[in-house]
Amino acid sequence: MQHYSMYINGEWVNTHNVLEVDNPATKKIIATVPNGGREEAKTAVDAAHKAFRTWSKTTAYERSEYLKRWFTLIDQNKEEIAKTMTMEQGKPLKEALGEVQYANSFFTWYAEEGKRVYGETIPAAHSDKRLLVQKHPVGVVAAITPWNFPAAMITRKVAPALAAGCTVVVKPAESTPLTALLLAKFAQEAGIPKGVVNVVTGDPKEIGNVWLDDTRVKKITFTGSTEVGKYLMRRAADTVKKVSLELGGHAPFIVMDDADVEKAVEGVIESKFRNAGQTCICTNRIYVQEGIAETFTQEFVKAVSELKVGSGLEEGTDIGPLINDKAVEKVQSHISDAVDKGAKILAGGNALRETNGYYFKPTVLSGVTDEMVCMKEETFGPVAPITTFKTEEEAIERANNSPYGLAAYVFTENLGRAFRVSEDLEYGIVGVNDGTPSVAQAPFGGFKESGLGREGGHYGIEEFLEVKYISIGI
Ligand code: ADP
Repeated sequence: MQHYSMYINGEWVNTHNVLEVDNPATKKIIATVPNGGREEAKTAVDAAHKAFRTWSKTTAYERSEYLKRWFTLIDQNKEEIAKTMTMEQGKPLKEALGEVQYANSFFTWYAEEGKRVYGETIPAAHSDKRLLVQKHPVGVVAAITPWNFPAAMITRKVAPALAAGCTVVVKPAESTPLTALLLAKFAQEAGIPKGVVNVVTGDPKEIGNVWLDDTRVKKITFTGSTEVGKYLMRRAADTVKKVSLELGGHAPFIVMDDADVEKAVEGVIESKFRNAGQTCICTNRIYVQEGIAETFTQEFVKAVSELKVGSGLEEGTDIGPLINDKAVEKVQSHISDAVDKGAKILAGGNALRETNGYYFKPTVLSGVTDEMVCMKEETFGPVAPITTFKTEEEAIERANNSPYGLAAYVFTENLGRAFRVSEDLEYGIVGVNDGTPSVAQAPFGGFKESGLGREGGHYGIEEFLEVKYISIGI
């Protein structure tokens, strides 16, 4: 079994105790990582704080070169990273490779965007004054990331932070620290100065609390559950840290009567079953207009029945295992609740208990009502509940009736309707005839309780910058 060390101040660090990492496809332990706590969390901030003094003074052009070197090494080693990701997280290898490429696109994009952090001159009301605005890196950034995108949720934060001139301390999820530590290895090989990037594995609460209490940490950037996000935001208030949160979602997928059924089915398959339904922008609720409901449902069920469930390392797998047993139980309980309240199972409906992994069959439910748990809470699994609606207004109202506001999808061939519906949806991301909207150059983030701030695009770097106004008397 392999042991991975954590990366602090340019060194590979170990602790007396270790955490075990399992493969959700086999439930077998595949590696161990250090079980860091208070001490390691603090050492990492010491290193990041010290490194900030010099890193923040490098030019955007120098930082760009480092990011490009890191990009190249990740690109050259993408198969190894993808395989490690599949082993610890479960997603099919082709998806893991796709994630590595998506993750890496943040380096190339921010390597350039860092050069465009412009200031401003503001016209003064007096001839003997000059008013300037400069942008400064916020300082040490703490990034806490989830297991569903073991690489991309790190690079989406770290790339803009580094480009802006910040240094980072990262705590990856307990279930997927290996990908994070591989990324750190390539950061070291890329020659990124010690202390600029630190990855601490171990106890989330202990590490998180040290970072929350430390006044040298100026920003917390988090992707994960709404519950933990709210906790971090509350705790960050004590030292008035900047906070970016990318939390849960409950994405509606609206299919209008005038939709292209083939496109809609393809879109919903992509958005529902990616990562076995374990992404925060995965479709959670499918609203189909009455006139097209029968055709859409038939085609959808047919497409779902062709999806292959299996180990992510096997060729042709579309859906890998869920992350753990708790995830399987949650999916099962959402289905049971729906069935108890009158829903019908059109496909799947059960876990594959006879296998060695946490597998669950892709499931389609019809006759679903808005009162069912799966229509309100994030299932985070391969369950597609279908309900019908009569009018555009009804679809918008029901789609917006949620405390979440991350992603929404609408499929229609009518241009006016595409604009009307996408503008009325209270969501940070809307895919119109598009089930896969995430790209490095566009803003990703949610309305309402789905989060604060944006990652990606020029918005993503602003999150790591302070605005300084300089008034000059001449
Ligand atoms: P999920 O339900 O997807 O695992 P979590 O919000 O529990 O989402 O986890 C996302 C990240 O937040 C993980 O890295 C996890 O270790 C971390 N985390 C969980 N609880 C805390 C906490 N109290 N303080 C800091 N980080 C936490």
